[in-house]
Parts: sequence; structure tokens; C-alpha cells
Amino acid sequence: MKKITIAIDGHSSCGKSTMAKDLARELGYIYIDTGAMYRAVTLYALNQGLLTERGIDEEGLRRQMDQIMITFVINPEKGRPDTYLNGECVEDRIRTMEVSKHVSQVAALGFVREAMVDLQRLMGEAKGVIMDGRDIGTVVFPDAELKVFVTASAEIRAQRRYDELKAKGEACNYDEILQNVLERDRLDSTRKISPLRKADDAIVLDNSHMTIEEQKLWLMERVEEVLGNK
Ligand code: C5P
Repeated sequence: MKKITIAIDGHSSCGKSTMAKDLARELGYIYIDTGAMYRAVTLYALNQGLLTERGIDEEGLRRQMDQIMITFVINPEKGRPDTYLNGECVEDRIRTMEVSKHVSQVAALGFVREAMVDLQRLMGEAKGVIMDGRDIGTVVFPDAELKVFVTASAEIRAQRRYDELKAKGEACNYDEILQNVLERDRLDSTRKISPLRKADDAIVLDNSHMTIEEQKLWLMERVEEVLGNK
């Protein structure tokens, strides 16, 4: 069967990864969470003391970029990939508020984006891939056969993130999360390099009032259309 590239971009915490992971499993495609890659670089910078409340040591991080190895390994229990940083599973650590607070700052750095985009193109070159992020349909794979731009109201996105962190037992505060969601939207959409924007040929999905099941069906229909089965 023909294999395609699927680009799923959109705002923070709008359930892109849940949709993308489920679809990848259904189609037998590779799923790549590019947000996890920027989060892993952020965790690395925090661990190395290159990122503090005072700011970021850009030169230090630039010098160490070639020491950052990011890989994905399927977790057999979950049937979904976990993120590894230099051989260590960091799937939970990259989802903390501390990383969320700094990630958009790190993701705005040109040398970080260049390294991640190169890696993403390599990971997706064989097609049969679903990649979620902010610039997949515009920069990483502008020729993707299917592009979806996902959004939802900021309040609903903050509530989803709150429920997710709470379920993991992490101490969290709804207002702080809402501020983080809004701030990341602002930074991601206004940065100079590869800002978050809908690709001209992307289909918009506002999932504010959709269940996960409804989204899944919606996305599957779009895939069937592109594959010519509909
Ligand atoms: O998708 P997630 O919310 O985990 O992404 C974390 C952050 O990584 C985003 O807020 C954004 O700053 C950055 N990002 C990016 N480009 C991507 C994916 C994520 O700049 N392709």
C-alpha cells in the first residue's frame, strides 16, 4: 500500500500527539513527536546548568549540540514510543512544568532548530511517518501529502494539560498552566525562525468540543481521502 507523510501541527496541548500516536498504530506508521525533541534539548540544557532563571547560555549550548543524542524507543507496554536522551529514558521528565516553561525559548534558537529539523527529515525520509509539531507542514516536510492544523480554545487546552499532570501525580495549578499555554502560543507564533503558522494547504481541525474518538474518526477519513479509498 502507498505510504504517505502526515504532518500534524498546531497549538500547545491540543491533543495532537494523542491523535497522531493512535493513527500511527492503526496505519503501522512511525510516529515522531518533535515537541519531545525540543523538550529533550531543554532538559539537557537544564541538567548542564546552561539554562537558569537568569537566562540561557547560548554559546555553551551551541558548543554541546553534538553531544545531544535523541532517540525514540517503542515502549512495549504502552505500544508507543518513549523519548531517550543520550541513552536514558526521559519521557516523564520532559513533560514537567519546569521543561514546559523554558522549551519555547530553546526552540527559538536557530542552531537548535537546524539540528532538530535535520534529524526529523532523516527520521521521516522513508515515508510512512506521522510527525507532530509546529513547523512540520511548513518547513520540515512542505510536500507532506496530508497536513492538519489542530487548535482548541486556550482554556480547554489548559484543562487537558492540568488533567494530564494531575493524573501523573504532579503538583500543578490551572492558572499557571493556562499562562504557560498562552505564553508558548505567543513565543511559538512570533519567533523569527519557523514561527507556528498554518500551512496554506493544511486542513484545520478545531477539537475544542470533540472527543478523542471523534477526532480519530475525522483524521482517519482525511487519510482515506488522500489514499484515494474514499
Ligand atoms: O508539542 P509540545 O507542546 O510538546 O512542544 C513543546 C514546545 O516545543 C513548543 O511549545 C514549541 O516551542 C516547541 N516546538 C517547536 N517546533 C516543533 C515542535 C515543538 O518549536 N516542531
